[in-house]
Amino acid sequence: MSSHPPRGRPVELIWLKRDLRLRDHAPLAEAAARGPVLCLYVYEPELMAHPTTHAAHLDFINASLAELDAALRARGGGLVTRVGDLPDVLDRLHAQRPIARLWSHEETGLGITYERDKRVKRWCREQGIEWIELPNHGVFRPHAGRDGWSARWRRRMAEPIRAEPAHIDGVLDLPSAGLQSAADLGVAGTPRPDAVSAGIACGRAVLADFLAKRSRAYQGDISSPVTAWSGSSRLSPHLAWGNLSVREVYQATAARIAQLKAMPEREAQDWARSLTSFAKRLHWHCHFIQKLEDQPDIEFRNLSRACDGLRDERPDTALLDAWRHGQTGYPMVDACMRALAAGGWVNFRMRAMLMSFAAYHLWQHWREPALHLARLFLDFEPGIHFSQAQMQSGTTGINAVRIYSPVKQVRDHDPQGVFIRRWCPELALVPDAYLPRPETMPAHIQQAAGCVIGRDYPAPIVDNGKAWFRARQRMGALRARAEARSEARQIHHRHGSRRRPQHLRTAR
Ligand SMILES: Cc1cc2nc3c(=O)[nH]c(=O)nc-3n(C[C@H](O)[C@H](O)[C@H](O)COP(=O)(O)OP(=O)(O)OC[C@H]3O[C@@H](n4cnc5c(N)ncnc54)[C@H](O)[C@@H]3O)c2cc1C
Repeated sequence: MSSHPPRGRPVELIWLKRDLRLRDHAPLAEAAARGPVLCLYVYEPELMAHPTTHAAHLDFINASLAELDAALRARGGGLVTRVGDLPDVLDRLHAQRPIARLWSHEETGLGITYERDKRVKRWCREQGIEWIELPNHGVFRPHAGRDGWSARWRRRMAEPIRAEPAHIDGVLDLPSAGLQSAADLGVAGTPRPDAVSAGIACGRAVLADFLAKRSRAYQGDISSPVTAWSGSSRLSPHLAWGNLSVREVYQATAARIAQLKAMPEREAQDWARSLTSFAKRLHWHCHFIQKLEDQPDIEFRNLSRACDGLRDERPDTALLDAWRHGQTGYPMVDACMRALAAGGWVNFRMRAMLMSFAAYHLWQHWREPALHLARLFLDFEPGIHFSQAQMQSGTTGINAVRIYSPVKQVRDHDPQGVFIRRWCPELALVPDAYLPRPETMPAHIQQAAGCVIGRDYPAPIVDNGKAWFRARQRMGALRARAEARSEARQIHHRHGSRRRPQHLRTAR
């Protein structure tokens, strides 16, 4: 640790993580009111090398940082970046300029960030530096239990939004590593040509457009990958990297709902209902993150320990490779995987189907598929992601077992193959009727469509009906066990939504 005496006026150090914004940024607002301010972003090698990190995440972060730096400069401040482990970076910085206080948002992150926070806490204690962590959204630390959680969440969402500081007494004489690209840092991943643009201005524009126009039929649009592309808010990367706060989005939505409700037209009332359903998702955002906050090991282990040993933890590489590369022979699965590789986003139902296919049809442990999807999703948010990965694999013990049929998803959500043909061009001329199961095309139709199964497009890697039935039987047997049912009650008490007793539901 540092042996040099620190020089200069002590600074209020703001450590930016997944909160790349100025508005509704309590640590920044509080620190700026106290004294000279330094905003710091650290490229942490351990995080950069983590199996959930993709170059596209870094591109998003960097575009956000560039915008943030410009906005800070316009107010008299600026951004300093550093590459290195924590707390070493803080230690070196403290040697260059004394740190009065460390400010940050609470982070509900990966196991490695949890461990890193413990190291930072220890370092702060040793240095006599106070670390003030403030809530980033509607997640509670320490958590007082699930009873009353929703009311606490609503109160937090109703809190006033902190304005961007008009002026910042910035510290401008410290060296910065500038923006570090994925190539600089050795972060794996190829560019995502279709990825949504990053940054605060973009996030605000997406929100404004959604509330003013695109949300009209939100409820009806979100299930199909064809309509969800524009009918869903598409705000998730901006929320995950903190360009916008959940509160900001929630309050803007509430204002729009009130405006619509005041209108006499029936259409406005339907629209308000759609937006109410969207607002519920913001509640889910925090509800799911709270699970990881309360039980960090769900990144690694089954939430329901009764599920241990249910699936082999060693992945079947051949099956998973076919799934990863969009070569399963199931057009909806393959189109989603290819769409993700290009743009880092598909809608909720398709994500659930991808995870369910890996967990039930391929009978793979959720961990490897979850890591792969984390890299693919531009909006990777650990708390939502690992909770959902487990939920769609049936290992939470409390949620209904839902095995998505990739065949039915085509019939229900892309019967004309608009989405599928875009991402699987080899199926371009396959008649609609065969899109759910191209392998059932008679040979002459395969020839006419220029899509010979096994040559131009793979035969299904597993049989849909048999895989579904086998998974259903296995899950049924597991859930029938007395210890699984008793554990479910405990899990529900700790993590379950209080709206209804989900452990009692058995529907598929
Ligand atoms: C296996 C799996 C993994 C997922 N991983 C992530 C992830 O890493 N990051 C992530 O943000 N979402 C994740 N989701 C949830 C959901 O699919 C996305 O939030 C949503 O598709 C993002 O698109 P949107 O912003 O247009 O959503 P909208 O429908 O417009 O919803 C608005 C916001 O509400 C929140 N939200 C929406 N649906 C959910 C949900 N089911 N659970 C929790 N929060 C929700 C998100 O913050 C989202 O941005 C995952 C879902 C599944 C099934």
